[in-house]
Amino acid sequence: MNTFQDLGLNSDLLQAITDLGFKTPSEVQEKAIPTLLSEERDLVALAQTGTGKTAAFGFPMLQKINIDSRTTQGLILSPTRELCLQITNELKLYGKYCNGLNVVAIYGGASINEQAKEIKKGAQIVVATPGRMKDMIGRKMVDISKIEYAVLDEADEMLNMGFYEDITDILSHTPKDKSTWLFSATMPKEVATIAKKFMHNPIEVTVGAKNVGSEQVSHEYYVVNGRQRYLALKRLADLNPDIFSVVFCRTKRDTQKVAEKLIEDGYNAGALHGDLSQNQRDLVMKAFRNKQIQMLVATDVAARGIDVDDITHVINYQLPDEIETYTHRSGRTGRAGKTGVSMVIVAKSELRRIKSIERKIQKDFIKKDIPSGMEICE
Ligand code: ADP
Ligand code: MG
Repeated sequence: MNTFQDLGLNSDLLQAITDLGFKTPSEVQEKAIPTLLSEERDLVALAQTGTGKTAAFGFPMLQKINIDSRTTQGLILSPTRELCLQITNELKLYGKYCNGLNVVAIYGGASINEQAKEIKKGAQIVVATPGRMKDMIGRKMVDISKIEYAVLDEADEMLNMGFYEDITDILSHTPKDKSTWLFSATMPKEVATIAKKFMHNPIEVTVGAKNVGSEQVSHEYYVVNGRQRYLALKRLADLNPDIFSVVFCRTKRDTQKVAEKLIEDGYNAGALHGDLSQNQRDLVMKAFRNKQIQMLVATDVAARGIDVDDITHVINYQLPDEIETYTHRSGRTGRAGKTGVSMVIVAKSELRRIKSIERKIQKDFIKKDIPSGMEICE
């Protein structure tokens, strides 16, 4: 097993890694970091959520940029505001001994002038959502004509969200000889197209389907009468008074409805979905991180990539359409060596889907009953 020292990282970064308590590099870090440090190459990395991708591109970028210069040298595109903020915070921690480092996040829903002011101070690294980035390029508020490294983080998600045109436009404002590092959980056609169009002979890194610590997640399902889903959810919460969980719904409307009902019924719950204002989303995330909210009811898009430690349970209030999404959901728990449970509330008619998921994740579900809940079980 490699250590972080073996990967070729400098002492400032190694010190930060020690402070963070990272013991050994994850697989994607082990595979990507040494090559990115030693070569000016493009990279395509396929790795699930929770496998440590931020550090896989963050450490090499921090080591390679010139901190003494105020020129923007690194650009990271990421699908949501939450992820931009998360990556920015993470990079600041990784670079805490890189004196003079300035990482700036830019995203929609907040003052563009404030963000432009931050960039003007001289940001070596800009972390951006594609929409806001394009806007700021148009207004000449940011100059990416000298960047050396471009990261497309969660590329599949950015393309799912319809950012293809924006990404293309943004990259056309960057130098041809930069290195492009693409990270994605899956490789649908659109991602392959982007890779082919913008990258030259990339190094390819694929890591196993396992998340960091995914063996720590157990999967359970509860068969209920479809009309009693909400009652089942409450029972699950009652059975686990210390629960700290994300409850996934399929639509924004259901997400809002379930959260409202939980709050009415006296649970510490909150909603996270795209119809909320950015300010509302920030407040909910803050309350969740502080554990004032025990049950964060969320859509897949809103919760994508959110990295909150100590989540004890992921509850699938409804199964997602795509099995891939189930993997993303359950990856929210069992992180950093902790154990977690992924629960599915399921109607009898959906049981086949549990079988398909079992095949995909190569793990068996445990069938569970909700005690004293005869009226809600089929
Ligand atoms: P991804 O982008 O692949 O979803 P992240 O980069 O957000 O994953 O990392 C997930 C979590 O794991 C973060 O809390 C991060 O600080 C932590 N982490 C990353 N690398 C390591 C490591 N080598 N050892 C321990 N924890 C790590
Ligand atoms: Mg990530």
